[in-house]
Amino acid sequence: MLFRQFFERESSTYTYLVASRQGGEALLIDPVKEEVARYLQLIHELKLKLVFAIDTHVHADHVTGLGDLRNETQCVTMIGSGSKAECVSRKVDDGEALRIDGLELRAMYTPGHTDDSCSFVMSDRVFTGDTLLIRGTGRTDFQNGDARAQYKSLFSRLLKLPDETLVYPAHDYKGWTVSTIGEERAHNPRLKVSNEDEYVAMMNSLNLPNPKLMDIAVAANLACGVR
Ligand code: FE
Repeated sequence: MLFRQFFERESSTYTYLVASRQGGEALLIDPVKEEVARYLQLIHELKLKLVFAIDTHVHADHVTGLGDLRNETQCVTMIGSGSKAECVSRKVDDGEALRIDGLELRAMYTPGHTDDSCSFVMSDRVFTGDTLLIRGTGRTDFQNGDARAQYKSLFSRLLKLPDETLVYPAHDYKGWTVSTIGEERAHNPRLKVSNEDEYVAMMNSLNLPNPKLMDIAVAANLACGVR
């Protein structure tokens, strides 16, 4: 498999390029608008055909590259079916399989960080968006975030994946690049709660400042980052 992890410094966002081989079909997860030229360069150099560009949720901290990528490559843009981003070509339902040649991803609806958050599961890895971060979890205090829903997404869905499943989140602020479900269950401080109420109380006491770009980014992302 061909797998690349891009890092965007301003918002500490990870973007993933996945394909089964050079010259084959590819997909991008959580592309950032300012980085689109770089993705297209690599796609061109590896002779890939971009089939899907996917956002795990409507982001509040950066503008999505979905619209620009669709304009440049005619790829299909996608987000979870709970999303208000009506600009996408297609919305994916919980459990739906996305196929490109030689590869399959399954959408897993994991709300909580936002009401439209989806994870995408492959045989050996999961793209968790901002639902599960490395040694953290995504904030739940805006965009219809819901700590109770996130608790269920974490404990009833993501943590049910096999322990060895690789975890690739949408962000990291400390330099982690990858983890596993087993490692997060054992060492993620946010998962050390004994019940849902305890998790909700912890998330409700975080008092985080809003992201710098929030007002601009959410509005732009509901239009896929293009006017
Ligand atoms: Fe987010």
